Amino acid sequence: MKKEEIQFVRSQLYEGKTPRQIAKEYGLNRVEIQKIGKEPIFKIKMNLSGFFGKVFFVIVLSLLFIWIGYRLIKEPSQEETGQKLRVLAEVIHAKSVPDRWHFEKLPSAINFAEEISFVTSRLQILENSLEKHKRIPGVDILYKMFAGKLYPTIFISERGRTYSRQVVRTEEMNQRVGQIKKGAQEIVFYGRGDLNHPKIGDRTLFYDRNWRALFLPSLEGSDLWKEALFLHELWHAKSHRDGSIGAIAPENSDPWVDEEVEAHLIEQTVLNNGIDDRYRQALSELVRKDNGSSLQKFLHSVKAEDILGIDALFERPMVREVGLRAAQYYFDLSTTWISFYKKEGDMKKERREAYRLLRRIS
Ligand SMILES: [Zn+2]
Repeated sequence: MKKEEIQFVRSQLYEGKTPRQIAKEYGLNRVEIQKIGKEPIFKIKMNLSGFFGKVFFVIVLSLLFIWIGYRLIKEPSQEETGQKLRVLAEVIHAKSVPDRWHFEKLPSAINFAEEISFVTSRLQILENSLEKHKRIPGVDILYKMFAGKLYPTIFISERGRTYSRQVVRTEEMNQRVGQIKKGAQEIVFYGRGDLNHPKIGDRTLFYDRNWRALFLPSLEGSDLWKEALFLHELWHAKSHRDGSIGAIAPENSDPWVDEEVEAHLIEQTVLNNGIDDRYRQALSELVRKDNGSSLQKFLHSVKAEDILGIDALFERPMVREVGLRAAQYYFDLSTTWISFYKKEGDMKKERREAYRLLRRIS
């Protein structure tokens, strides 16, 4: 075969023709063409163009795409994200101030004048917060139900570790309850030493269904966070009172979670309202920097300086408030993220799932 013919055969082989086809089409010697076809380059080429070669190619390419895809959309694990959120809470903790309790624990037989004056003034702050935020959806309902109807008592844990009702109520308090014709709401204040009482169970503030009372710590200070947390708990009191299913539904069930979401949204709006919308602006700014691919990835990407920037909008937290604040920040970042990136979805369902995610991981 001439040199040009060999070149020509090579080009034909390279295009994928078989020696038989080339021999037939161009009247060339098949044996010689087969010899050329045995050169290493054509061996590889022919192997790959065969059926198994194609399958092999497809498998390699698929694995490559799967690997690239995995790298691109890889979610941090729930443990990793949970760990990250705990680190962020630590960052807030580092900026906190010591707790300032008004009272430790009250023995049952002393003069309570001082404590009474504390809880009376604290009650005024709570009443004011209803008035101050009554234009917020949800708080308007609380205002109608509870304004002028709050009355304070003081928790007594002296008589042993008991769940039974032990509170101090003065003549003045009794009078107040008497004046409230219908729908009075008891607020039980407790001291630092009561935290380990089974009734309190180391919770900072909560609504107790059995007593139909709201429990608050006798912590000093009167910042916006105390108002927001109080209104959150009051929402639970309201739900219990008006027979909402969430108030009696099992923990983590849909109606139970929905009530928590409502309470946290009220809290978010109160916080935002108290600092002229700067809170939601800060949340939006962080959310906008994300690409919207996954909520968990976003939470994982939040940096220490981001969370400190948000926390700096408010008064410095007391140690006991850190966990409550951190939980609220993650909730607020999550719901802001959802309203940004999940516009078409079922908002209620998305928020519910976000709340469950946070409960699981943090
Ligand atoms: Zn709650």
